[in-house]
Amino acid sequence: MDCIFCQIASGKIPGDIVYQDKEIIAFRDINPQAPRHLIIIPRKHIPSLDQMKEGDAALVGRMVAVATKLAKDEGVAGKGYRLSINCGKEGGQLVPHLHMHLLGGRQLSDALG
Ligand code: AMP
Ligand code: ZN
Repeated sequence: MDCIFCQIASGKIPGDIVYQDKEIIAFRDINPQAPRHLIIIPRKHIPSLDQMKEGDAALVGRMVAVATKLAKDEGVAGKGYRLSINCGKEGGQLVPHLHMHLLGGRQLSDALG
């Protein structure tokens, strides 16, 4: 499996991991776009939102729940933050393993794209 996020999840390559459980893992983005920039992924290799199967929606729900906990841990929960999921080329998705960005720690731009 040459997926970089699967390799981080399995410990084959190092990641700055801030949270993990049976289903979800979260780590710091290697090229942060904000003072707090985390990546939250399911351990299961789902290439993108487009390729979710039945039952995968529950995993995305868990990713959101983990992200809100991490926002508290990172001290941005009260100030505000952004969760985003890019899908496909025009959506700006570079890594083909479903992931959610948690961005915070500065005033984010109003622009979404
Ligand atoms: P996306 O454009 O939504 O696919 O975002 C992919 C994100 O993964 C980017 O913000 C990258 O900086 C980040 N990234 C790529 N490789 C790594 C890595 N090895 N460890 C942590 N973050 C990574
Ligand atoms: Zn993967």
